[in-house]
Amino acid sequence: MQAFVIGNVTVDETIAIDDWPQPGTSILGAQTTRDLGGKGCNQAIVMARCGLPTSLIAATGDDFRAAMIREQLGRERIACRLVQLEDHASDLSMILTKPDGENAIVTTTDCASRLSALETQAALNDAAAGDLAVFQGNLNGETSTTALKAAREKGMTTAFNPSPVRPYFGQLWPLINVVFMNRGEARALTGATDAEAARRLLAQGVSSIVVTLGAEGALLVVADGALHVPAEICAVIDTTGAGDTFMAVALASAALRGTALDRRAISDAGKAAAITVGRRGTHSAFPSSRELQAILAAR
Ligand code: ATP
Repeated sequence: MQAFVIGNVTVDETIAIDDWPQPGTSILGAQTTRDLGGKGCNQAIVMARCGLPTSLIAATGDDFRAAMIREQLGRERIACRLVQLEDHASDLSMILTKPDGENAIVTTTDCASRLSALETQAALNDAAAGDLAVFQGNLNGETSTTALKAAREKGMTTAFNPSPVRPYFGQLWPLINVVFMNRGEARALTGATDAEAARRLLAQGVSSIVVTLGAEGALLVVADGALHVPAEICAVIDTTGAGDTFMAVALASAALRGTALDRRAISDAGKAAAITVGRRGTHSAFPSSRELQAILAAR
């Protein structure tokens, strides 16, 4: 069983602020980290550190950030298929964090939106039935649809994190087996919250939905019912990357045990996300391979 993550990679510039800027104002901030990021890259790194063989398919520019991305990804055990775009700036996230750990993120998708349907199909050549195909919302609609169809034709399990929310997602639901979304995404996509939001996606053909609820934990909803797993009690330093850690560990926990998502997978994911929440930054906040493997091995 392998995972193929088709998504974005960014450099994350994190700036600590005291309060949110209001329109028309200038405020002071302090840069705390410059880190590897992007939802696709984050999820691939955490899945690989769980011990699941993982490939990342993503696009970069040809600037100093691309060099940093290649250098840092070279230290992870990921099969990288990075498409380098000439004369483009690599994608970037500006992350504003408040002292209570809350964050707001602006991500550029110039490179991610140029990843072509052809490149993603080629990247799935080595995939087999039962492998995982993992997507987020940073690609363009045509590439996402074509790659999801290719994955389903191969008999892969498709997992989708609908973030950032885009208008074309409505056409994707019948191609998706598993959705991970937070409360804001659930409301934006379905007009409902929590379990009701999940039920609306079940009705669109998705078979398992996880709604992450921040400090309240997470809900797993399938056709047979719903289960809630509370969050770990932990110090909150910076929640950036918590959702990506959660999704990657839940998928890896289930895949490595050869099961569908279950209580154990959601509980493992909550333990790993609590580690990320307790550290500053994105890549530098993720649990190490040793920490993840201890969580996955614990009884
Ligand atoms: P982010 O965008 O910050 O990466 P998200 O909005 O996608 O995260 P959340 O629902 O905020 O997702 O968090 C994902 C998971 O991380 C939660 O289900 C929970 O397990 C863990 N988590 C987040 N915030 C906290 C917290 N304050 N205390 C403990 N666990 C937390």
